[in-house]
Amino acid sequence: MLLTRLVYTSTISSAFTSDDLEKILEISRKNNPKKGITGMLFFNQKYFLQCLEGSRQEVNATYHKLAKDARHTNIIILDYKEVDFREFSAWSMGYLPESSLTAPIILKYSGLNAFNPYEMSGESAHKMMLELHGNANQST
Ligand code: FAD
Repeated sequence: MLLTRLVYTSTISSAFTSDDLEKILEISRKNNPKKGITGMLFFNQKYFLQCLEGSRQEVNATYHKLAKDARHTNIIILDYKEVDFREFSAWSMGYLPESSLTAPIILKYSGLNAFNPYEMSGESAHKMMLELHGNANQST
């Protein structure tokens, strides 16, 4: 199996409603273990930043499926790599919202105080997710 990691960003669309985040996490945590997908989702009420890791085939299939989801738009791949090991192996889909705890980490990797993943390099986005990783709560 060729292990790969994909990091993308997207923006919520007008179809996104307040209970959609819960639904997205629920379906992700149901589907991803069956596909051997692990990862993390960061969300700040406007942008999504998600890392998917697993076999090349399943990461691509999951990405193509979620890219058709009308609840988000302007979907851009920031980073795609073959990797030697998983970094989020304990999480079928860990979740981290923006908070006072994440603010210093976001500032560290951004040119601006406000989080804008479209202005980040793939490497910065990946490193920021790794640093956020320590704060993520799988059950949230
Ligand atoms: P289905 O049986 O097709 O749907 C399950 C439930 O989700 C149903 O209640 C259905 O009404 C609802 N639903 C499905 N698609 C939509 C839609 N486009 N708009 C509104 N409601 C919908 N899926 C994963 O499997 N893994 C992921 O890591 C993942 N990450 C996501 C990240 C983001 C930012 C977004 C927006 C979506 C993500 N999804 C993820 C969800 C993905 O887009 C699909 O909705 C989901 O994979 C459909 O799964 P299914 O075919 O098993 O379920």
